[in-house]
Amino acid sequence: MKKITDIYKVDENSLIHAFQDACSDKEFKDYVYNLNIKEDILMKYTSSLEEAYNECKNCKKCKNIDNCLNKIRGYAYTPIFENNIITFSYDACDKLKKELKQNSYKDNVDLYEMPKEMASASFKEVYKDDKSRIPIIKYFKEFMDHYNDLEKPKGVYLTGSFGSGKTYLISCLFNEMAKKGIKSAAVYYPEFLVNLKGSFSRAKDSEDRSFEEKREYIKRIPLLLLDDIGAENTSNWSRDEVLGPILQYRMENHLPTFFTSNLTLDELEKSLSITSSGVDKVKARRIIERIKQLTVTLDLISKNRRS
Ligand code: ADP
Ligand code: MG
Repeated sequence: MKKITDIYKVDENSLIHAFQDACSDKEFKDYVYNLNIKEDILMKYTSSLEEAYNECKNCKKCKNIDNCLNKIRGYAYTPIFENNIITFSYDACDKLKKELKQNSYKDNVDLYEMPKEMASASFKEVYKDDKSRIPIIKYFKEFMDHYNDLEKPKGVYLTGSFGSGKTYLISCLFNEMAKKGIKSAAVYYPEFLVNLKGSFSRAKDSEDRSFEEKREYIKRIPLLLLDDIGAENTSNWSRDEVLGPILQYRMENHLPTFFTSNLTLDELEKSLSITSSGVDKVKARRIIERIKQLTVTLDLISKNRRS
């Protein structure tokens, strides 16, 4: 009776056969012999070598990484010979390496609950049909040119109609600044507050420090966007323990802070004064004063670009 190990053992003749068969393709043969590995080792890996060869061939013909034919986009299955055995790994191709390098600036922008498209927002793509953008783009250009010389560069409170492109424009600025190595965070403020509140209540009865960490992180980041401020449900906590300290710190440290809102500053003041615990005009006023210190106010009234 055959032992179980014998049943699964491929006999050497079959290995030789399969390898010789594969080598009838001259290009494959050249490929494997160029690896400078002995034949008796090569023949143990015929099917993996064929896969690696096919991927290598795809790479040679490749003109655009977006049309990559390999199993994993931008990677080639590659043999590595060590200690008399061949192992295979997926290696990044040159085109992918270039793409990663070109996009590495994106690591400088942290997006919290923001639309993904903002990661690739670019002044080059900005709609040119609408004059209302010109003063904003002009301000941003000056901001970029003078960021390093100015002692107290000011952000923008960008107010205006829904879908006019407020968030998009500030994302263009942050992406441009990221290329110069300046770090930023763009935070969809209403959602951020909800998440922060969740981690805050968990932190009360556990060692969860994420509330403090998140708040500290955005407090200190060189450029900050609080997106859609005024759309959140204001509470004493969000106004006095989150927004207030963040703005205070950024004001004292001259850290440029940007806001987008559908509300004017007057409307935001009203909205911040009313919480479920009552009306507090003084505390709302204080927040508005800080925003005024931190920003110049610009309007963007334009057609709704959302599809
Ligand atoms: P807002 O923040 O004012 O509500 P968004 O910035 O979210 O508006 O813009 C609405 C939509 O229009 C988004 O999908 C955005 O990508 C697109 N968009 C806005 N402005 C531009 C622009 N200048 N160039 C290209 N796309 C834009
Ligand atoms: Mg927006």
